[in-house]
Amino acid sequence: MLLPKFDFHAPATTEEACQMLTELGKNAKLIAGGTDLMVNMKHRLISPEHLISISGIDELTKLDSSDSVIKIGACFTVADLAESEEIGKKLSALRTGARALGSPLVRNLATIGGNIGTARPAADIPPSLMVYGAKAVLKSSTGERTVSLDKFFRGPGLTEIQANEILTEIQAETPPPYAGAGYINLGIRKAQDCNLVNVASFVALDGPDGIIKDARIVMGCVGPIHLRAPSAEKLLIGEKPSEAIFAKAGAAASGDCTPIDDFRGSAAYKKAMVEVLTRRTLGLAYDEAKYRG
Ligand SMILES: Cc1cc2nc3c(=O)[nH]c(=O)nc-3n(C[C@H](O)[C@H](O)[C@H](O)COP(=O)(O)OP(=O)(O)OC[C@H]3O[C@@H](n4cnc5c(N)ncnc54)[C@H](O)[C@@H]3O)c2cc1C
Repeated sequence: MLLPKFDFHAPATTEEACQMLTELGKNAKLIAGGTDLMVNMKHRLISPEHLISISGIDELTKLDSSDSVIKIGACFTVADLAESEEIGKKLSALRTGARALGSPLVRNLATIGGNIGTARPAADIPPSLMVYGAKAVLKSSTGERTVSLDKFFRGPGLTEIQANEILTEIQAETPPPYAGAGYINLGIRKAQDCNLVNVASFVALDGPDGIIKDARIVMGCVGPIHLRAPSAEKLLIGEKPSEAIFAKAGAAASGDCTPIDDFRGSAAYKKAMVEVLTRRTLGLAYDEAKYRG
């Protein structure tokens, strides 16, 4: 299958890339790892006249965890996320999400920004970023803005990114002491498959044996975008962590989602799996939280 014709541009800086986007307008598309875009182009779902490659822009490939805010360049690869000790120490669920994505070949090219940019409700990276309260930095020739990932996704394939903007960085605060997170994805096959359901959970305790003072649960594949589970989160806050409360939260989360029947599974099955994965990811989050002093 041949690709449609296009002009290829490789700017050296973010400023140059922003300028190109402004000049070329809707005829241009950004390309990072190309693992999603190239497939769509081969299938003639999109045929941009210009591709602006950003994977060679040095500042977009950096990870900076020296501060209380962890900054991940949009072109940091999923393979690097999966291997990073710093990410494993500070944002362990994100590393788990990266390890679940595709195959080594795909992970070597795929970027964190590209995974978010696709806005697929089944994508592996957004749930773990959202449970850490991550934000996206969007840059254009005229300025920069920061958008919480909670407000970033608009629908399947749709995001807050405007035609003249580049997602340059993801920012997440280092979790407080006694906080932890977990991520589990379920597919029909173990790898190289679109997820059937994926869930990430985060809990922060007020001490090693304390109550839950903050909780976030994010579910994928069960709505047009990744969804928070507000009634499950509310139910957890102020409670002592236990299997029983995690099971209750799982049942509440399954009421918070809106899956559809499709060839991967029925809506009822997906709801049942949200219940199970929420309970299990809360268990993982708690296991990490109690030792992260
Ligand atoms: C065989 C195979 C298996 C896969 N398995 C999985 C999987 O298990 N889980 C999963 O989540 N995904 C999977 N994917 C999808 C894909 O690999 C990922 O979504 C990947 O992270 C996309 O990143 P990329 O850098 O390749 O994006 P690209 O293909 O380069 O770009 C994707 C989209 O995002 C836009 N974009 C990219 N970077 C930016 C930016 N910085 N600013 C603004 N817009 C941007 C592009 O214009 C494009 O619209 C798979 C793909 C393949 C081919």
